[in-house]
Amino acid sequence: MILILTPDTDENSPEYKELSKHLSNLPNIRTRVHREVGTQQVLTEIYLIGDTASLTIEEMEALPCVERVVRVSQEYRVLGRHRDGQRSTSFEYNGVRFGQDNLNVFAGLCAVDTPEHVERMMRALQDHGQTCTRMGAYKPRTSPYSFQGHGKGCLPYVFELAGKYGIRVIAMEVTHDSHVQEIREALERTGRPTGVMLQIGTRNTQNFELLKSVGRQQEFPVLLKRGFGITLEESLNAAEYLASEGNHRVVFGLRGMKTNMGDPHRNFVDFAHVPVVKRLTRMPVCVDPSHSVGSRDAGPEGLLDILHVTAQGIIAGANMVLVDFHPEPSKALVDGPQALTLAELPYFLEDVRIVREAYERRAALAAARSARDDPARAR
Ligand code: PEP
Ligand code: MN
Repeated sequence: MILILTPDTDENSPEYKELSKHLSNLPNIRTRVHREVGTQQVLTEIYLIGDTASLTIEEMEALPCVERVVRVSQEYRVLGRHRDGQRSTSFEYNGVRFGQDNLNVFAGLCAVDTPEHVERMMRALQDHGQTCTRMGAYKPRTSPYSFQGHGKGCLPYVFELAGKYGIRVIAMEVTHDSHVQEIREALERTGRPTGVMLQIGTRNTQNFELLKSVGRQQEFPVLLKRGFGITLEESLNAAEYLASEGNHRVVFGLRGMKTNMGDPHRNFVDFAHVPVVKRLTRMPVCVDPSHSVGSRDAGPEGLLDILHVTAQGIIAGANMVLVDFHPEPSKALVDGPQALTLAELPYFLEDVRIVREAYERRAALAAARSARDDPARAR
């Protein structure tokens, strides 16, 4: 059960103290307080954990400071929707809003290789009005003999260049909790010119100790990729690990599943799950067309499969696109064959705009239909 308190409830007020006292006297119930400090207001939620079956919503709503009560099912306690349409499905980080109702594009390098390539990438992004990117410094590779990423050595120039070109959020994979500290230190040393969204890759979706430590910090939001060989439910529970430790700013990433049924694509594209994740949870949903498709093959009309699956994710309501670009794909140290070129960036962005508009028109059509046929539900 979650008690949603009146916005800006003061934890030192007599009413709050009375509420705390009442809750501490409930038998077999523990509480966990979560405060979300937004730009406009502070939202406090109190999670009641344990024997809540005998508590009624009415009696809990009558307690001081309590605005609303949501009874949660066992699944996805923190991130789930629990048939409640009123709790937040968005968050803000470093001036960028991530929500189930908007779309952010993260075009960038799969792996950082040279400062020159990072700079060319970021300049192109700025030229086309982009404020987010992807930059891999720690690369989890199939072979131990492959390039493993430059690690912390590249962070200072990546962050400084991001600041120079107005990039506000960089999605960056971490494979060990020490990487979070390295990122924090590099940001501090460079004067915090940008922000970082920590990415947990598909190979680490069920690395529970990594999830717990990334979940305990609340400085950086997290992009959690779906595990490539586990069920959707297992991956959503992995997201819940982050949230149950305190970090609710989680984006869920679809990136295709590992099975030969998807051949000749690198992974079997699973973007039909965009609406499923949005209905089960409050997380914005990201799609990664590059790691799903894995090549620059195109359909007979000339559209790359990467653009086709990007469109499939967006027309289904995706909220973020993580996509590999490279100024010189033939020189990329990781995943060159699936990279789009800088010349293709404006074309890609225009294609994204067309499809997002189509999604918005579809959503408006559905809303109008439901207002007409089922007015009670539309309210
Ligand atoms: C990546 O985005 O660079 C990556 C390695 O993705 P995934 O974990 O989905 O394979
Ligand atoms: Mn890659």
